[in-house]
Amino acid sequence: MTSFGHVTLIGIGLINGSLAKALRARGGVETITACARRPETRERALELGLCDFAVEDPAQAVEGADIVVLGTPPLAMGAVAERMAPGLYPRTIITDVGSMKARIVADVAPHLPDPARFVPGHPVAGTEHSGPDAAFETLFVNRRCVLTPLETADADAVETIRAMWEFTGSSVDLMTPEHHDKVLAITSHLPHLIAYTIVGTVDDLEEQAQTEVFKYAAGGFTDFTRIAGSDPTMWRDVLLGNREAVLEMLGRFSEDLAALQRAIRWGEGDKLFDLFTRTREIRRGVIAAGQSYIRQQDDPLADRP
Ligand code: NAP
Repeated sequence: MTSFGHVTLIGIGLINGSLAKALRARGGVETITACARRPETRERALELGLCDFAVEDPAQAVEGADIVVLGTPPLAMGAVAERMAPGLYPRTIITDVGSMKARIVADVAPHLPDPARFVPGHPVAGTEHSGPDAAFETLFVNRRCVLTPLETADADAVETIRAMWEFTGSSVDLMTPEHHDKVLAITSHLPHLIAYTIVGTVDDLEEQAQTEVFKYAAGGFTDFTRIAGSDPTMWRDVLLGNREAVLEMLGRFSEDLAALQRAIRWGEGDKLFDLFTRTREIRRGVIAAGQSYIRQQDDPLADRP
């Protein structure tokens, strides 16, 4: 029977909490230690049975761990890695679940006693909810998880982290951190930025108009509010942490938006019709690829069941 031994989860919210539940439910773990700053988070994680031990100090949390999973907001990971480093055993495997990768690799790797034991990762699954209460066991089932190991990574470390995510029901892809960041900039980060913008624009409307927007909110706007309801800390970190790829995609998007604006102004219906026909095909492709009926905020095309 598979066991990943003693797993330490630094940060115990939606993602690490769901990992705890998935590992536990399948009997894939001996001990889970959780680490969080606030006593209420630690108490709740214990109450929910997400962990056996909950501690505040990252160095204490990683003592004796076979695997450590960083699951804090992305830009907090460097400081957390620095604090946990003195407690790490030489063979402990370290991974993370952060939504952008190159910046996390740059922030975390220098603090580790042996960067070859570091296997950065990103489970492409989630919801707009946060904290230990938001965790659920099936979050990773039939989802993808991207690993971005460094060239110098130990093969056994990569295989262990791959096995852990496959154990939760995910399929695993390997790529470079830079490639991951480009792909996620367009599939996830830019759509979140657009949702935040649209909902922000509505919020800026005068009170009367705002009331009507809420009253008549149809599918489109409601979907945007779900995405724009995502955790502000995490998304601030993701957009700043993947700055270059996001700005590149934003530039392209702005050009396309200007073209659309022009087509509307000049009554160029054919252009609009052609674009909307093309995008409809993309939607069909997404469904065909099995990416529909998913509950996660990383894919704003998702239909929530
Ligand atoms: P979450 O539910 O908000 O949980 C974050 C955890 O980190 C909490 O336990 C929190 O507890 C702790 N924490 C917060 N700030 C911290 C800090 N400055 N230093 C140390 N610990 C801190 O977050 P999540 O949604 O699980 O996201 C965690 C990671 O997963 C992020 O890196 C995100 O990019 C990635 N991710 C998220 C999604 C998603 O849909 N949410 C999807 C894929 C990947 P305390 O406040 O008590 O310390």
